[in-house]
Amino acid sequence: MQPVVPAAAAGAAFLAWAVRGRASEVFGPSAWRGPRGRRVLALTFDDGPSETTPQILEILERYGVPATFFQCGANVERLPSIARAVGERGHEIGNHSHTHPLCCFRSPGFIAADLERAQAAIERHTGMRPAWYRAPFGVRWFGMRGAQRRLGLQAVMWTVIGYDWKLKADEITGRMMAGVSEGAILCLHDGRELRVRPEIGETAEALRQLVPRLLDEGYKFETVSRLLCPTS
Ligand SMILES: [Zn+2]
Repeated sequence: MQPVVPAAAAGAAFLAWAVRGRASEVFGPSAWRGPRGRRVLALTFDDGPSETTPQILEILERYGVPATFFQCGANVERLPSIARAVGERGHEIGNHSHTHPLCCFRSPGFIAADLERAQAAIERHTGMRPAWYRAPFGVRWFGMRGAQRRLGLQAVMWTVIGYDWKLKADEITGRMMAGVSEGAILCLHDGRELRVRPEIGETAEALRQLVPRLLDEGYKFETVSRLLCPTS
């Protein structure tokens, strides 16, 4: 028997999925995993750069692991040399908006201006032009598709997210280990929205646990561009 769902509830559930669902393409196409068949993962970090990003870079460097950093334009303007160091260490830089707004119910003009500002700030300070966009809070909305198209940005979500802004390192590691599979995109945070000197100790500790364990399991790491477009 089919459950009876009131139309309003069904509409709200659909909208929630359209806005937040990692595989939703209602507001534009977005990737959330790479192909299976190759034992590779993409590590991604959102909300940076922050004062603690160099710690993350050091851990990645120790293991020779590339990652993709979705930077916020306002953080790039606050810490331009750290933003630039990310690119200089061979990592990819993506766009994570300028001010990390919650975009639902915002106007398409607001969304476009925020994305453009971030793209310009990242390019000016790092010399890299992002090809990938990750929506703040994973929330997509009207106007994003057009703004991304104009900037040549492709949207990317994640396969597994660490909830590292609230969980302890062991719990973050456990979540990530349970969620990985070939082609997975892992999401952690080297900042906390636009906060100055954010506390990201649990993220760094989780990363110290996670990277060697995943390497031991035979995974290799690639940037988002490599993972999703292996021939380019
Ligand atoms: Zn974010």
